[in-house]
Amino acid sequence: MKPPNSVLSGYGTTIFTVMSALAVEHGAINLGQGFPDEEGPEDIRRSAAYALMEGPNQYPPMLGTPDLRQAVADHNRRFYGLDVDWQTEVMVTSGATEALANAILGLIEPGDEVILIEPLYDSYLPMVRRAGGKPKLVRMEPPDWTLPRGELEDAFSAKTKLIILNSPHNPSGKVFDRGELVFIAELLDTYDAYALCDEVYEHLVFDDLDHVPLMTLPGMRERCLRVGSAGKTFSATGWKVGYLTSAPGLLTAAAKAHQFVTFTTPPNLQTATAYGLRKGDDYFEGLAASQQGKRDRLGEGLKSAGFRVLDSQGTYFLTVDFQSVGFNGTDEEFCRHITTEAGVAAVPVSAFYQVADVDHFARFCFCKRDDVLDEAVDRLKSHFGRA
Ligand code: PMP
Ligand code: GLN
Repeated sequence: MKPPNSVLSGYGTTIFTVMSALAVEHGAINLGQGFPDEEGPEDIRRSAAYALMEGPNQYPPMLGTPDLRQAVADHNRRFYGLDVDWQTEVMVTSGATEALANAILGLIEPGDEVILIEPLYDSYLPMVRRAGGKPKLVRMEPPDWTLPRGELEDAFSAKTKLIILNSPHNPSGKVFDRGELVFIAELLDTYDAYALCDEVYEHLVFDDLDHVPLMTLPGMRERCLRVGSAGKTFSATGWKVGYLTSAPGLLTAAAKAHQFVTFTTPPNLQTATAYGLRKGDDYFEGLAASQQGKRDRLGEGLKSAGFRVLDSQGTYFLTVDFQSVGFNGTDEEFCRHITTEAGVAAVPVSAFYQVADVDHFARFCFCKRDDVLDEAVDRLKSHFGRA
């Protein structure tokens, strides 16, 4: 029998699925894979349910319903002052994952260089490789997650087509600041390259920090493809509704892939996403405030269990250094150990690197009910003798 595609068949099952399965098997509290344990806002779900019953339920337009595309354009103006033409500059996709894949498939020519910043979200590298791109990896490392500017500059060349920039950043919780973005913008200008901006956690930013889309910087409007996710913004990760905003030429390139990958996205979820994006500022502020509270709750709890807890400025995640509790194995061993022995699952940070030498950090997800976070902390405290 002939073998399947060698790039994709070389990858195992994603760490999120592996740890979630282990958590289920051992009845552990799952602070591994990032998803809230409460349903999203009721009014948004009702909007989806109503639209499902009332229809239409046939293929929506390929780029997305006009209603949602207008809502995405309005959202860009409202939060970031971006002037976006909903007809030529917005595309709806089945999850941010699809938007990312479309942009990569639509832009990359075999041999093009693509700059990726580690630790990196799991879908980037396989898709870049599958598209024939040549990945150039630049590392940020805990505990500071500093962007290594010299290495980043060295990674750029005349062959650089694209950088993938995730901010707020999974798994580190880093929110790139304006100075870092200006530095990246200058490199993009110098090397005539594009940026695929994964901003799925745009509304999960804490401590009065601002999320600054790279697209808002001078000269970047024509170079960036900005990706958002209803799953994250409305706490319904199973919905898989994403939206891509870019200048028309880049959007057309991504749409060429979208038309053959999924073509379109369920219409009722588009209706509900449009409704959600038009919610008042209190909704978006409330989302960030509630997740900030959970970050603090879990962070304090993990500290009291003996962990060194690193700063998290955004996302669903915080990272701990577990050497402080006296665990001497690798991060993967640690995550398996606490899942099976303490009844709490986490994700090893090395899973976000190609070379697993960042090996004593674990990522915990805090978008869970307070009582669940407290129970997880109690279990870890008693396991590590701090109860
Ligand atoms: N990018 C990052 C950094 C993520 O953490 C996620 C969450 N799974 C995604 C993209 C994918 O988002 P979606 O579920 O909308 O496809
Ligand atoms: N974004 C989620 C995380 O980082 C998981 C997404 C997935 O399971 N593919 O945990």
